[in-house]
Amino acid sequence: MLDAKKIAQDFPILQKKSRGKRFVYLNSAATTQKPRQVIEAISDFYSNHHGTVHRGSSEISAQATEMFEKAHENIGKFVNASMQETVLTRNTTESLNLLAYSLSKKYLKPGDEVLLTKMEHHSNIVPWQQLALEKGFTVKYAGITKSGELDISDLQEKISNKTKVVSFTHCSNVLGTINDAKEISRIARDAGAISIVDGAQSVPHMMVDFKKIGCDFLAFSGHKMLGPTGIGVLAGKKERFEELPPFLFGGDMISEVFFDHSTWNDLPFKFEAGTPHSAGAIGLSAAIDYLEKIGIEDVLRHERELTKFAFEKLSGLGFVEMHGPIPEKRGGVISFNVRGIHPHDVGGVLDEYGIEIRTGSHCAQPLTRELGLESGSARMSFYVYNYREDIEAAVEAIEKTFRLMGK
Ligand code: PMP
Repeated sequence: MLDAKKIAQDFPILQKKSRGKRFVYLNSAATTQKPRQVIEAISDFYSNHHGTVHRGSSEISAQATEMFEKAHENIGKFVNASMQETVLTRNTTESLNLLAYSLSKKYLKPGDEVLLTKMEHHSNIVPWQQLALEKGFTVKYAGITKSGELDISDLQEKISNKTKVVSFTHCSNVLGTINDAKEISRIARDAGAISIVDGAQSVPHMMVDFKKIGCDFLAFSGHKMLGPTGIGVLAGKKERFEELPPFLFGGDMISEVFFDHSTWNDLPFKFEAGTPHSAGAIGLSAAIDYLEKIGIEDVLRHERELTKFAFEKLSGLGFVEMHGPIPEKRGGVISFNVRGIHPHDVGGVLDEYGIEIRTGSHCAQPLTRELGLESGSARMSFYVYNYREDIEAAVEAIEKTFRLMGK
């Protein structure tokens, strides 16, 4: 069983005060805090081993290359992807942009369709929209049910032999809904479409096995799983990566360059142009070691328990509306509205109590509109360092907010 209070001790920022109160951090779906083990791994790399990766001739730069490649391998292993199947990017957004660009360059033509869902983050909508303008393909969206789950029959109806790509979130950052990635990937495969899983909200919280899911690509971000910002991942089937054109061009991604043409490096480096974020990879690898020590299976179990507890407490108030499915079908994310109070005001008052939540559309404006939430919602999200007292503090502050401003 995961000991969240003990884990929280590893996070320097959680020892700080905010507004003179204990800092309660309930915004991990946006970004997670970092344990000292990750901070120290980065500091050790810069203090003792930093050099140019793949390019230097010194002992130190050889060490930097070795450490980077070891970290790179460890990052892929976390989702059961080999080194050749793991491309390091800046974040999920860049991973999805890479795919939208390279896939549309290789495969997509007028009349083709890309199928998304209505619960996507902007990063899995906007790149497709932009490339559709250029290439003339159509973007479609599978709907959601009243309880905030993906409407699989609608997805099945909308998939056809025109569908070339199905790209969907594994876990919604607004509703918390966990989608059946294996089943959706199978539906896509049967229709002859490429499947892409946005794992930004799943990989940090539960066991995600790229091969078991059977998707073509899986994207996620280091900063949402205790790692540093600026490092993300795109896992993909080797044969897919091999046939795709590169996204960015320059140093390291080439094999040979002539004045009139160039050839590409082996995988994964064909998709890693320029000097890599070596310290980021090393920090993310340390974050993975930390999560593995806790046991990734225990992470979702712990978050579910917190979600159930928060559900009970919030529904007990009588003036809070929660969005999305029951706790058993979701990750540790709860979006909610307090009757008569703008979500930004809820966030503002909670901040006065030292509690950070997120408010607004959560980078999912189409979904927010679909839910009829013109002013957005407030959202609390949990991770390994959260415990019941955090939720009690938030619920107490919400109650005070309602007494102050609610109707
Ligand atoms: N997809 C989902 C479901 C997300 O929650 C997020 C981050 N909120 C992203 C993609 C984008 O992640 P990043 O900003 O790290 O690129």
